[in-house]
This record gives sequence, structure tokens and C-alpha cells, in this order.
Amino acid sequence: MPRTGPGAPRGAGESLQTPAAGSAAATGKESCVEPRKATCGTCSLKIVFAPCLGCGAGVCETCAQFELIGSGCGCVWPAYYCPACARDPHVNPNAALRDPPGG
Ligand SMILES: [Zn+2]
Ligand SMILES: [Zn+2]
Repeated sequence: MPRTGPGAPRGAGESLQTPAAGSAAATGKESCVEPRKATCGTCSLKIVFAPCLGCGAGVCETCAQFELIGSGCGCVWPAYYCPACARDPHVNPNAALRDPPGG
């Protein structure tokens, strides 16, 4: 006679008590392949942190020149320039502010 009971002991040292922790941390994302990280166009040493708003060259966090660009309506937004563009008044409206006064 076949025994089809739910309480059939299968394996003495096998415990079926699994922790009910949330296992939603699945690490199987390979669709977004990141391209090779470019190096800073100024120092060529560090990874590009942000693109220059003027020439588009990638600059690292050290070489990036942070500027606050005014839009005319009272709003300003952050921008990053490469050292060359940061000193170019044609590119950076705040370039004059960077020059030492009375130089
Ligand atoms: Zn750099
Ligand atoms: Zn630039």
C-alpha cells in the first residue's frame, strides 16, 4: 500500500526551514553595458567626472571647474568647464571673475 502522506520523513538531518528573508537582491543585470570609461582630457590621469560645457571634453573631478551659470530669470544651475574653457570669456561668462583683480 502506497504511503502518500504529507508527513513522510525524507532525510533525518535535512531541515526544510528556510529563512523568509527578502531575496529580491538579484544581481543578474547585464543589459546595461557601460562603455570604457574615458580619462580626463586635461590630466589624462583620472576618470572623467563631467563633460565640459564649452568644448565637451571630459574632465575629471579635480580638473573640472565648477561654475554657476545664471539663466537671467534668477535661476542658476551648476556647470563644469575644463580649465581652458573656464578661463575663456567667450565660453564661460564668469571667466572674468576668475582672473585675479588688478593683475
Ligand atoms: Zn583631470
Ligand atoms: Zn572645455
